[in-house]
Parts: sequence; C-alpha cells; structure tokens
Amino acid sequence: MIEQIEMRTAPAGEAPAREGNVGRASDPGRIETLVIGGGQSGLSVGYQLARRGLPFLIVDANERIGDAWRNRWDSLRLFTPARFNGLDGLPFPAQGDAFPTKDEMAGYLESYVERFNLPIRTGVTIERLSREGDRFVATAGNRRFEADQVVIAMSNYQKPRVPAFAPELDPSIVQLHSIDYRNPSQLNDGGVLLVGAGNSGSEIAMEAARRGHDVWMSGRDTGHIPFRIEGRAGRFALVRFVLRFLFHRVLTVDTPIGRKARPKILSQGGPLVRVKPDDLESAGVKRVARTTGARNGRPLLEDDRVLDVANVIWCTGFHPGFSWIDLPIRWKDGEPVHDRGLVPDVPGLYFVGLHFLYALSSSMIHGVGRDAGRIAEAVASRRDTAGVAERRAA
Ligand SMILES: Cc1cc2nc3c(=O)[nH]c(=O)nc-3n(C[C@H](O)[C@H](O)[C@H](O)COP(=O)(O)OP(=O)(O)OC[C@H]3O[C@@H](n4cnc5c(N)ncnc54)[C@H](O)[C@@H]3O)c2cc1C
Repeated sequence: MIEQIEMRTAPAGEAPAREGNVGRASDPGRIETLVIGGGQSGLSVGYQLARRGLPFLIVDANERIGDAWRNRWDSLRLFTPARFNGLDGLPFPAQGDAFPTKDEMAGYLESYVERFNLPIRTGVTIERLSREGDRFVATAGNRRFEADQVVIAMSNYQKPRVPAFAPELDPSIVQLHSIDYRNPSQLNDGGVLLVGAGNSGSEIAMEAARRGHDVWMSGRDTGHIPFRIEGRAGRFALVRFVLRFLFHRVLTVDTPIGRKARPKILSQGGPLVRVKPDDLESAGVKRVARTTGARNGRPLLEDDRVLDVANVIWCTGFHPGFSWIDLPIRWKDGEPVHDRGLVPDVPGLYFVGLHFLYALSSSMIHGVGRDAGRIAEAVASRRDTAGVAERRAA
C-alpha cells in the first residue's frame, strides 16, 4: 500500500499544518520529498517546504525532537545568544542576550514542530538510501519510503572520530568521546587529557579543572574570537558583528576571503568562542603538543613526552557518518561534492546543515534558514519541471 500525504492550507505567512504520519510501520510510504534528519536543519527545510505548499515527510533516528541537543554534556550552554537561536517564523522564547541551555534549545525545537505542525516520524533510522528507476528509496528496518526528492539535513556531528591507537591505552584509563561526556562524575580521580583543542575540548577542560583535576589539553591552536561573548559589548554588538556579518555574509563561498578560509575551517575547525586561552591558563589547564600514539599504555605526545593520566577525553571531532548513502555521489575528504547543497551527480538530492555548506554560519542555528530556503526553492523548481514534462508526455 502506498499512501500520499495530504496538506491543509495555512494562514497567510505561516507554514501550512500537515497530517503527521504516513502508513504503518510495515507499509511502504511514497512521499514527494523525504527529509532525513529532524534537527534544526530538517525542521528549517520542513518549514520552507510547507510555506511553499509542497508535500514532504521528515524522519529522524532519535526518539524525541531535540535529542541531538539533549544528549550533549549537562552544563552546555549555547555560545549564541537567544536572539540568534530562533529558526524562521518563531523567535527563541528568551531575552535576546541570554545564553540558553542545551535543554532549552531542545525544547524550542519541539515547540517549533508543534507550532507549524510539521509532519515528522521519530525513531526512524535510515539504513540505506538508494535509487530505483526514477525514485529514491530509503529503508529503515522493514520500513520503506519512496521519494521523488530527498534532503539530507544534518550537521557533520553524527559519528565520533577517535584515533586508531585509542585501544592501546591502558584499560584503567577512562576514555570518552565528547559525544559521550556528560559531567565530571564519569571521570577517574587523577589527571585528564583532552585531545583536541576546539570549543568542546576547551569547555570540558575548564569543567574538569574546576573540579580539581590536573588537566592537559593537546592539539592545534584554532585561534579565538578576541572578545568576551558574555561581556556587555559582546552581547549587544560584537556577537552580532561576528555571527551575522562575518560568519553569515563575509565568509561564504561567494567571496574570495570565504573561499580561501573554507578548506582551513573544514579541516581544523572554527575559532574558540566562549573560552579564551587566558581562561585555560588561569584554570591551570596545561597546553601540550599533539597526541600521536600510545607508549606502555599511556598517551604519547608529538614531542615524545608520555602523560600519566587517568582519563582521556577525545574531542577529536566526527565523521559525517554517511555510509548509508548508496548513491553515485563523488566524495572529497569524507564530504559529498555539492554546490550549496545541490548534488550535481544525483539531481533531486540535497544536503543542508553541513559545515560551510554555503557560509560559515551554515551549520549554525541562525544561518541554516537561508540554505533551507534555497533548497526548498530547488525542490519546488525541480517539481515544476517534472510536472511540465509529465504533462507534455501525457
Ligand atoms: C557541542 C556543540 C555546541 C554547539 N553550540 C552551538 C551554538 O551555541 N549555537 C549554534 O548556532 N550552533 C551550535 N552548534 C552547532 C549546531 O547548531 C548544532 O550541531 C546542531 O545540532 C546542528 O543541527 P542539525 O539539524 O544540522 O544536525 P543535528 O542536530 O546533528 O541533527 C541531525 C539529526 O539527524 C538524525 N539522523 C542522523 N542520521 C540519521 C539517519 N540515518 N536516519 C534518520 N535520522 C538521522 C539525528 O538523529 C539528528 O536528530 C553546536 C554544536 C555542538 C557539537
């Protein structure tokens, strides 16, 4: 049995309300546009498709909307103030200069789905996306979804990346990837080595140091934003300048400076935002060389030093985790080759939410809406073209 989703008409300026689910678990579902991923990227695409009156369904592996945020470490606060944490059509419900908690962000995404009645199925992990004839086929267990077009809507933070030598460390050392870190109660007494000196590494290093651990942080310096985001000037002016001007307008694939910065940012990560090198120093966090291996069960640094620590937290980033995509796409450094989210090798396939998809802001809450709007436009125009061709053939 194949079901088609119906849509109701929305009030002017609002996304239309939709029927929630398609089919039973074992039913095949035929959908015009399937959106895989129901985080901020997928919801933004859903909002933009709904505004254009286009039928679609969002599926997400997690049980609850917002779980990608909920599952991050307990003390996490966003580094973007609330005025930059709202998606199109619904401002974030907090004072503009407040820094929400990760659970508040998760709750906001849930309320976004309710507000616009976006059709979404949770607890659906797509295990294979392939093509049969002129349709995409996505399977999740015994579920099968057929779609004319597919949007893969997710950030690059799906599968933790840990160096190959990690299993050589002594089993008495607690090892966690940042994705599994919740709070210092997971740690052994004794020293902590953070491998990776980006935003996650720095924030977790500060937390461990405050709990009285000796902390080392290893990895390349990614630079930092030269002001305090929580200071008065930061909250009211400088954050706006950095997020809305620099990250959103200047550092894009359309500008020479953006094109020059993109490969470096993709391979090394962005600058530190909340934590500064001075903060790390005053908290007693010791910066050390890169961790390159294991010797006698202990982490070995590039300068041949061995650290006798009781904990290692891998803040070494992620793989995009796209092994389930079985389509003839070209890949470069683990990323699909695309043009602002449109995949030239597979027409009708799109990405949203990837790092620097179009701008440095593309993977951030305030930046994803612009990309989602463009992709919805591309979906609409391909649908129109296909419709014209079908009518001509008829
Ligand atoms: C620690 C941390 C802090 C951050 N803080 C900020 C901040 O303060 N401000 C800011 O603007 N940005 C921040 N970001 C960046 C970005 O906003 C978040 O990473 C955000 O979660 C990205 O949303 P997304 O929808 O693109 O991807 P995700 O939130 O990763 O959502 C992707 C969804 O896809 C689903 N999925 C994955 N694979 C499949 C599959 N095969 N089948 C079905 N579903 C699947 C997942 O279940 C998930 O729900 C932060 C990122 C991190 C890691």
